[in-house]
Amino acid sequence: MKKTVALIAHDRKKEEMLQFVLTHKEQLSQYNLIATATTGRIIKENAGLPVTTYLSGPLGGDQQIGSRIACQEVDIVVFLRDPLTAQPHEPDITALLRICDVHNIPVATNTATANLVLQSLLCD
Ligand code: PGA
Repeated sequence: MKKTVALIAHDRKKEEMLQFVLTHKEQLSQYNLIATATTGRIIKENAGLPVTTYLSGPLGGDQQIGSRIACQEVDIVVFLRDPLTAQPHEPDITALLRICDVHNIPVATNTATANLVLQSLLCD
């Protein structure tokens, strides 16, 4: 079955997310991609990959993706958080990371880890 990868990037990390997606475009095109609203739109428009989008993070998108994780519908999360800027939806961010840990879902919060996770999928 096709793997599902969730992609979320805070504003100052969106360019880095786009570069990550472009670097791995061929591999990511094999997976179902889901994302928060703005992250997903940027990926669709600039990488041309299909992405199922949810609400923007501050409006509940992290929680929507969290609920899919809780339903065992997500295999990998790439969550490029901005570690230098306070976010209005900090509780949702914590909840998303928590639910990944509850369900033992790999969650990469930087591209170094995300690269390793994607590499490991190639060996599956
Ligand atoms: P966004 O949401 O992709 O809609 O910007 C992500 C976030 O900022 O949490």
